[in-house]
Amino acid sequence: MADNHCLFCKIISGEVPADLVHQDERCITIRDINAQAPTHVLVIPREHMESLDEASGRDEALLGHLLRVGARIANDEGHGDSGYRTVINTGAGAGQSVPHLHVHLLAGRPMNWPPG
Ligand code: 5GP
Ligand code: ZN
Repeated sequence: MADNHCLFCKIISGEVPADLVHQDERCITIRDINAQAPTHVLVIPREHMESLDEASGRDEALLGHLLRVGARIANDEGHGDSGYRTVINTGAGAGQSVPHLHVHLLAGRPMNWPPG
């Protein structure tokens, strides 16, 4: 169920505007407002879930869908050969700042490992 105080729920409902890349019945994809790479999009499930830590067995197909949408967009934007990174930050200590599960897709520049 949508959370009235959640930024991404507000984007999903249209209350807060965003640059939409893709949408389907299970998720939306928007450009990150503070892009860290030439392609930096967020794949966001429509259903409010605070983080990966809240996901259950019932969500396994949805989690796979989010990753596959990210891969499709990476290819659509021309990064299939050069490579791309998908990231899920879980919890403040790992850098999660918006408590609604989302997958970051980053591409279009060299990536370092390990991430900071
Ligand atoms: P997190 O830090 O939770 O892993 O990722 C949240 C992301 O949401 C950040 O990369 C941040 O730049 C992005 N973000 C925060 N507020 C907004 C917003 O209002 N619109 C969009 N498009 N992205 C946002
Ligand atoms: Zn939400």
